[in-house]
Amino acid sequence: MKSWPSPFIPAVPGTGLPVRVHDNASGAVRELTPDGTARMYVCGITPYDATHIGHAATYVTFDLLGRALRDAGHEVLYVQNVTDVDDPLLVRARRDGVRWQALADMEIALFREDMTALGVIAPDYYIGAVEGVPSVVKVVTDLLNSGTAYRVELPEGEGAAEACDIYFDLSSTPDFGSVSLWDRDQMMAVYAERGGDPERAGKLDALDPLLWRAARAGEPSWPGGDLGDGRPGWHIECTTIALDYLGMTFDVQGGGTDLVFPHHEMSAVQACGITGISPFARAYVHQAMVGLDGQKMSKSKGNLVLVSTLRGSGIDPMAIRLAVLAHHYRTPWEWTGQTLLDAQQRLATWRAGLSGNGGPSADSTIARIRECLANDLDAPGALAAVDEWVTASLEQEGTDPGGLELVGIELGAPGLVGRALDALLGIRL
Ligand code: ZN
Repeated sequence: MKSWPSPFIPAVPGTGLPVRVHDNASGAVRELTPDGTARMYVCGITPYDATHIGHAATYVTFDLLGRALRDAGHEVLYVQNVTDVDDPLLVRARRDGVRWQALADMEIALFREDMTALGVIAPDYYIGAVEGVPSVVKVVTDLLNSGTAYRVELPEGEGAAEACDIYFDLSSTPDFGSVSLWDRDQMMAVYAERGGDPERAGKLDALDPLLWRAARAGEPSWPGGDLGDGRPGWHIECTTIALDYLGMTFDVQGGGTDLVFPHHEMSAVQACGITGISPFARAYVHQAMVGLDGQKMSKSKGNLVLVSTLRGSGIDPMAIRLAVLAHHYRTPWEWTGQTLLDAQQRLATWRAGLSGNGGPSADSTIARIRECLANDLDAPGALAAVDEWVTASLEQEGTDPGGLELVGIELGAPGLVGRALDALLGIRL
């Protein structure tokens, strides 16, 4: 699937530090140690509604990680999926009386525009669930043949007489639980509300995830060979796309904290079941939730701040990106009107501070930005380093408009800081 145009990344003198991030599976901040190319998979959207600030935070965070890895000397191979067929999309399309493909196409187009505006580097592979169906069919067939998946008859009156849904047998692998580190009670408490079907009769274990949903009347389906017509479950979509384009074992599996369980847990355990190799990813990195008015921002609650709405009202996308970067990715935060005002003020101050030909030396500021990013993506720390440089620059201008007579002023320093902002933080002034 077509992604979006990537921004140009200017060169910055020097090299970034090895990058450390928080890995959920080990519960610790760990250094990423890619074997040459860093391989990253980030779960994409289900395109039934527009990009909200919580999504923006997720994709900006992993964009920041990709930039830090590039700056540290790695090539980055980045894969993102788009769940362009799944229950929420079908339900929304039915509710709104539109074709599900048309709804998906429209929201994916809007997502591309939002990502472009926010300066997010495009994935190397942007893969839709529909594109991945042949891989899912092959993998699920193999799992059935090896006895790690099983058939469950359809409820009375649903689907064709011989049709069966297919589930993964969690008891077949010892890896279950190694990503979330949750106990069974924690898992059961959220499984149903996060797309699971613990009540489904005929499953061996209430938590066993759906691999293949047999065709139902009024739902899209694809030929599944021995599986029968149907469509992929959500988790196996990401398992197969990651295996196809990155392979075992890749460096970073990313997404929001609401994906820790069941999505990332199930994606990983299925991959281990398919390949016999563990782990799926070396680090599982998660963006904290962004709230609004004291609640998690979510489609189901309807309390969304949309990137496209902000852009449509004339807000500079770089101010939106700065508003996101002002918060550490692991700390939940709330979007308020003040959040945006602060970011707009900071953007204006930075533009003023970077508008001259000379300024304080850029070296230590660039070094601090790199240190902060390498230290578990401390974006607020990096912003503070830039704030200090800008303040010093503006003070120098105020002292001597000619500037160059003063000791400590370097010609070209604003250009260097500007390139660092662009390359490392994705902020174009
Ligand atoms: Zn995913």
